[in-house]
Amino acid sequence: MFEFNQPPDLSVCEPTRQRVRAFLAAEVERGSFKPWEVTWTTFDRGFSRRAGTAGLIGMTWPRAYGGQDATALERYVVVEEMLAAGAPCGAHWIADRQSGPQILRHGSERAKQDILPRIARGECAFGIGMSEPDSGSDLAAVRTRATRVEGGWRINGTKVWTTNAHQVDYLITLVRTAEPGAGKHEGLTQMITATGQPGITVRPIRDLSGHHEFNEVHFEDYFVPDDMLIGEPGSGWRMVTAELAYERSGPDRFLSAWQLLAALVDAVGHEPDAQQAVQIGRLVAHAATLRRMSTGIAGLLERGANPQVEAALVKHVGTGFEREIPEIARLLVDAGQQSEAGQRFADALRHVTLAAPSFTLRGGTREILRGVIARGMGLR
Ligand SMILES: Cc1cc2nc3c(=O)[nH]c(=O)nc-3n(C[C@H](O)[C@H](O)[C@H](O)COP(=O)(O)OP(=O)(O)OC[C@H]3O[C@@H](n4cnc5c(N)ncnc54)[C@H](O)[C@@H]3O)c2cc1C
Repeated sequence: MFEFNQPPDLSVCEPTRQRVRAFLAAEVERGSFKPWEVTWTTFDRGFSRRAGTAGLIGMTWPRAYGGQDATALERYVVVEEMLAAGAPCGAHWIADRQSGPQILRHGSERAKQDILPRIARGECAFGIGMSEPDSGSDLAAVRTRATRVEGGWRINGTKVWTTNAHQVDYLITLVRTAEPGAGKHEGLTQMITATGQPGITVRPIRDLSGHHEFNEVHFEDYFVPDDMLIGEPGSGWRMVTAELAYERSGPDRFLSAWQLLAALVDAVGHEPDAQQAVQIGRLVAHAATLRRMSTGIAGLLERGANPQVEAALVKHVGTGFEREIPEIARLLVDAGQQSEAGQRFADALRHVTLAAPSFTLRGGTREILRGVIARGMGLR
């Protein structure tokens, strides 16, 4: 039923793996980030610019648009290494993972020529303008509306939980373009909306750890020219659901707490007790299985398939695993150890414990994923 059987051979990507490891080692050496203090959503334009210069962003895109014609598997290896190193990728992650690929597939020639090379250089950041105050899980219920005007569209409405909207250059915003009365899934359209333009206001929302990553975004008569639409008016729902296969299946759905697992292994040292050995062995085996499933999906995406159900399964199991790591880690090691490894473990545990509740919400909650999986299995 699900196509996880043949994970592709990643050994062919070994030169790419060595290249990204050398880049990350140099970054750690120069003190650009402390792995246990940042996450992949940490926004650091300097880091992204250097990653762009090293050819690590937009690498699967054609050279004409700033890419390197690399394979999806080479990109997978880069993403995996960035996550394993705990690198601060927030200034290029969304653009590299989903906005850039959407523009490449469905954007106008102007959008492709203007925006893609800047993303690949690490100079242009994107956010996702999907969720609204009354439309999160039920995404098709979006009420933000765009109406036709001379040369383009005018947007009015409010988006919420928009990660890094206060720092990005653009959002891909999902809006309703059909007349009232059209079907719920019809008449939705994605548009490239530049921040910092008249008609868009970004207000901060602080999360429970006190950080400002979330925002509320208001559009008031905000103008979007015709060539900043992604695809045809009305094609938004199909695109959003296809985009979610990319968003849900990658290693970012099971490696968010990897630094904590690594710190746990260091804090336990070379002589684990029986319980530590069993629990760490179980977590590592779980990670290996998830990696196999996730690379299987990367292989399907490389072949042009749209594995939405498989991606939902990986996100469901993967984010459950990410949440389990701090729960198990805190039972295995005393977070008051004075050694250097003990301090690192305590820092990582604090950080991941605060972030973990969001792992199973962002990109679709577990209940919604279960619904997608059940439908895929013909159970509903
Ligand atoms: C860290 C983080 C970053 C995010 N970044 C972004 C972003 O950049 N851009 C963006 O657009 N959004 C973003 N989101 C929003 C995220 O996509 C939504 O929070 C998510 O889709 C859930 O929507 P909601 O918060 O409105 O919850 P609701 O939809 O109100 O759901 C509340 C609860 O009810 C359950 N529920 C809802 N419907 C059903 C149903 N039919 N069956 C069973 N249970 C149901 C849900 O599972 C959940 O537990 C982010 C969220 C987080 C946590």
